[in-house]
Amino acid sequence: MSATPRLFVISGPAGVGKGTLVARVRELRPDLDETVSATTRSPRPGEVEGVSYHYLSDEEFARRVAAGDFLEHAEVHGHSYGTLRSEVESRIARGRSVILEIDYQGAFQVRKAFPAAVLVFIEPPSFEELERRLRGRGTEDEEHIELRLKNARHEIEIGEQYDVRIVNDEVERAARELLDVMAQYETDGGSGTCQ
Ligand code: 5GP
Repeated sequence: MSATPRLFVISGPAGVGKGTLVARVRELRPDLDETVSATTRSPRPGEVEGVSYHYLSDEEFARRVAAGDFLEHAEVHGHSYGTLRSEVESRIARGRSVILEIDYQGAFQVRKAFPAAVLVFIEPPSFEELERRLRGRGTEDEEHIELRLKNARHEIEIGEQYDVRIVNDEVERAARELLDVMAQYETDGGSGTCQ
């Protein structure tokens, strides 16, 4: 159980390795349970409904936006993504810190709703390395890779507005740095809790 539960928002360009990094942090901090976002994109091979994402149709996503079910939502790479309020509020109420892995548009919406949220930006060691990782993933066609690279340049600039920046040069090292940052915010209480 955390001293002061915090909402940590993790963003970074596609291919930077956020997913692997956050998975490693969760292994080392089992008290941080998963939140599952909603999206209108199709599942990739190996992804599972209700585990990777809640996969919604465009109509269902729009209906839930109108119902006020989302803490934040944004269009990313041509699809809608959003964090369901229910996923976050139940965990904070149980005194748990929460990690959200979301894009920068969503991150700034969360900062508005919860000014004490801690925004952490994951950077690649270099742009060339990011391109190499993104192509190496092999899950995207060329058109989508180009779009993600274009977005990545823009996102890296936006990262300057985050509270903390961590270079994902090596996942184990970066995971330790992220855990240290989280522990600091949870122990000193900073500018207040997330509620
Ligand atoms: P992917 O399609 O590769 O799973 O995710 C693409 C992007 O969507 C990533 O940058 C990820 O951070 C972002 N994303 C995933 N879930 C959410 C969410 O709930 N809200 C927002 N705003 N972005 C999300």
